[in-house]
Amino acid sequence: MTIVSERHVDLSSIPRLFWKSTKMAEEWKEGPAIGIDLGTTYSCVGVWHHDRVEIIVNDQGNRTTPSYVAFTEKERLVGDAAKNQVARNPANSVFDAKRLIGRRFSDPLVQNDINLWPFKVIEGSKDKPTIVVSYKGEDKQFAAEEISSMVLKKMREIAEAYLGKTVKNAVVTVPAYFNDAQRKATMDAGGIAGLNVMRILNEPTAAAIAYGLDNVGRIGKRNVLIFDLGGGTADISLLTIEESSFEVKAVAGETHLGGEDFDNRMVNHFVRIFKRRHKKDISGNARALRRLRTACERAKRILSSAIETTIEVDSLYDGIDFCSNITRAKFAELNMDLFRNSIELVEKCLTDAEMDKKSVHDVVLTGGSTRIPKVQQLLQDFFDGKELNRSINPDEAVAYGAAVQAAILTGMGNEKVQNVVLLDVTPLSLGVLAGEDDLMSVVIPRNTTIPIKMEENYTTGYDNQTEVWFSIYEGERAIAEDNHWLGEFTLRGVPAAPKGVAKLKACFDIDANGILKVSAVEESTGMSCSITITNHKARLCKEEINRMIMDAEKYKVEDDERRGRTKAKAALENHVYSIRNTINEKKICATLAAAGMEKIEAAIDQVIRWLDDIQFSEAAEFEKKLTELELICNPIIAKRCNNK
Ligand code: AMP
Repeated sequence: MTIVSERHVDLSSIPRLFWKSTKMAEEWKEGPAIGIDLGTTYSCVGVWHHDRVEIIVNDQGNRTTPSYVAFTEKERLVGDAAKNQVARNPANSVFDAKRLIGRRFSDPLVQNDINLWPFKVIEGSKDKPTIVVSYKGEDKQFAAEEISSMVLKKMREIAEAYLGKTVKNAVVTVPAYFNDAQRKATMDAGGIAGLNVMRILNEPTAAAIAYGLDNVGRIGKRNVLIFDLGGGTADISLLTIEESSFEVKAVAGETHLGGEDFDNRMVNHFVRIFKRRHKKDISGNARALRRLRTACERAKRILSSAIETTIEVDSLYDGIDFCSNITRAKFAELNMDLFRNSIELVEKCLTDAEMDKKSVHDVVLTGGSTRIPKVQQLLQDFFDGKELNRSINPDEAVAYGAAVQAAILTGMGNEKVQNVVLLDVTPLSLGVLAGEDDLMSVVIPRNTTIPIKMEENYTTGYDNQTEVWFSIYEGERAIAEDNHWLGEFTLRGVPAAPKGVAKLKACFDIDANGILKVSAVEESTGMSCSITITNHKARLCKEEINRMIMDAEKYKVEDDERRGRTKAKAALENHVYSIRNTINEKKICATLAAAGMEKIEAAIDQVIRWLDDIQFSEAAEFEKKLTELELICNPIIAKRCNNK
């Protein structure tokens, strides 16, 4: 026992802070700011441009980019290029980093995921999960933050290519139910990517902005429930939206429930079928599992529109082709408990907001997994048959809302956008360990509007106690240690006195990103102590972040080199084929000396053969070949043209 809670603060007496973001515009003068939805499976980027939000297409013409990073013998790939080569290189293709970020290696959820991932995750220092891949023939280790930073950097580059400008500022979204450590780790990922993360925004709140801006203004005050079921997380948020005011009433969620889990269930189902049919267990074979998973994800999507589909994977294991049917009903049965969990979250959110389901005006769907018919049906049944609102794009709404928030923070956007007032809440209760029974003494209850500063009075637990230890937790369990530990500090110099005399005040301060600072003061002496929760166990230290920033710069140089190689190779290929076309046309022309023709053809053939054979070459080598080719061909062609 260390400290004893004297009394609970009267919540209504704490003045709530409201922020109106236009005031911050001065701070962010440096160029455009983007909104990034950093998803478990896909990411999406938007920007306020041409007086509206534009969702930016990537280099493949896609509006969302796989959150994948792959390492090969030659290069590092991010996005579509990484996902496209996954079946060939499963052990070095990393995805789902969002499921690891801010978590400990010993977390049972992490342990469970590790068994399903084809890439290797080991225990790093301070119980941090560390991803191990082979890159250019060497073993390399990465923190989840680094992998996420690579995805963020890719999203930044997509925006820069579109805008033609350097982008430094971004709003990045996280699941509303992300805890303090996960939020901070996401900010670290932004820092490693060279981005100034202006704000961490909750995903369903971002989706609500996308919905509310266009739909609610005209129809008065509405209670809107955002049901966001994505690749890795389920997030429920209940808001009251009135004109430009968005007030989150409550959030509920599960940071480990989504499309990836549904895929896992289907993969396990087919692993069992394969075993039954062929008496072979493929569960230890990363390549086979990866190929099966890709087929399952495709089948899952098909089952959202068809009632039956077939999985076909050639030579899945030991040369055996695998083919099997799955119906929509079977898929639903495999996942029914998970689907029901997501509906229970809706119930919890309504209870926390003290709102009856009949008072909800709109139930808005977002996140790719809300396309699953059974999920829709369960949700509709829960709301007694109410029509669900599918008016926002489930893949883009979060990035849309983030881009609006970025515009607000930089003073961009039209009047409607600039008038937006956003009041979010903290998803988990925050407090300290206190009393004889090591109870969780809650200072800020969950679903309190943020930013917020709240205080609680404490006293000493025994006579002449001169030091008081504050151990800070987040979570809903009664015993502090059953919750998630955030940090600790000791307040020293408390005047010796009988127990219960000292007056100690703890102050919890949460900023608009949901990040917490805790301080404590002994009132008679003014002696104080404070920490910004850094989560020593799970968070990267400053040196580690700096090292990762330097590594990221190194990867940028490598990426630039790769781009240079690709450009030089394309230039050589273009040139060689264009000469070939030219001489093919000119073949009919008798004035081109046969000797010259042969010389050109020989040079071209030699370059084409070289291009076909090489596995890898530097940009300079392509450029050299191009110059050599020009030296041979140009004089002959020029001569021929002059003769003509
Ligand atoms: P998000 O995180 O919102 O991008 O959602 C991605 C998840 O949605 C992935 O697990 C996808 O497999 C899943 N998804 C996308 N389209 C569909 C669909 N038509 N039916 C079922 N799940 C889908």
